[in-house]
Amino acid sequence: MIPPRQEFASDNTAGICPEAGGALARANAGSAPSYGDDKWTWQLCDRVRELFEIDCDVFLVFNGTAANALALAQLCQPFHSIICHENAHIENDECGACEFYTGGSKLIPTRGANGKIDLCEVEAALLRQHELHSHKPRVISLTQPTELGTVYTADEIRKISAFAKKRRMLLHMDGARFANAVAALRCAPREITWQAGVDALSFGGTKNGLAAGELVIFFKKHDGADFDYRAKQGGHLASKMRFLAVPWLALLENDVWLKNAQRANDAALRLADGLRDCGAEIVFPVESNAVFVRLDAMIARTLRELGWDFYKFIEPDVYRLMCAWSANDEAITALLSDYGSCVSSAG
Ligand SMILES: *Cc1c(COP(=O)(O)O)cnc(C)c1O
Repeated sequence: MIPPRQEFASDNTAGICPEAGGALARANAGSAPSYGDDKWTWQLCDRVRELFEIDCDVFLVFNGTAANALALAQLCQPFHSIICHENAHIENDECGACEFYTGGSKLIPTRGANGKIDLCEVEAALLRQHELHSHKPRVISLTQPTELGTVYTADEIRKISAFAKKRRMLLHMDGARFANAVAALRCAPREITWQAGVDALSFGGTKNGLAAGELVIFFKKHDGADFDYRAKQGGHLASKMRFLAVPWLALLENDVWLKNAQRANDAALRLADGLRDCGAEIVFPVESNAVFVRLDAMIARTLRELGWDFYKFIEPDVYRLMCAWSANDEAITALLSDYGSCVSSAG
């Protein structure tokens, strides 16, 4: 039995990056105030305001599901609804956390090519809501990069936010892999967030090299009022918050977050090119750190028998290969070589 290789199963199978790991040890020297009153958490919030070039409200929660669900609960009343893409993590992978934390809000999934929100579909969904008898549409939530690895341009985000503003709706961004989008677009974080009309951002650190800890950011200060109470009630106020904040600071120092993301994005491109060279069909544009490939069932089984772990993402035959911050050439070469052998023995 070959021990499973997790390199391409997800980007949360990777470890903690050395910068974050080293920082954790430094934060462990002695005692410090609890519940976010320590100097590092203050520094982190200032650093995030600097990074986004705006005086925003910044909070830390343990994971991405909580970041999304608590952020959306902050923006919605129980009678509100949230429009998202049908592949959205909030719709498919959060066990109803959003409905639970909002206490009644409804998610309205919509279709769109390549994992992106399609405003014609959103318009059609809005027309199906009939006033008092439906939830009141309040938020559009988009994922950047999308669950299918594509990246919204600043212009695409501006169009969605203009649409939302016209209907007095707000814009939330699930940025579990936000770093990969910024690295791919080579833009300033502000250009694809508040300057493009995003009101609230879930900014992920876990998949970028932390053990845990995601940021919730409200770009308009009053939107974050009392969010600390909401997070505490929801079980997401870390008492030893410094151990979330210090690794985050290390990630943001010297652009480690962007270097980690770039490495993952580059690995995905190399993997996709290699698979294509062996004749594989790459199903969605590779714009961040995910590669979606169509695999014959026999080949998928053989690769698994050879020890590779990865998920089938779309029935019947589309599989996702995810590259983490720790992606390395050796693993990519080994996978491509195994894939090449599978193809030639199948052919
Ligand atoms: C990983 C991920 C999250 C967060 O998941 P948790 O397991 O709750 O941390 C949120 N959104 C997307 C798109 C993700 O891929």
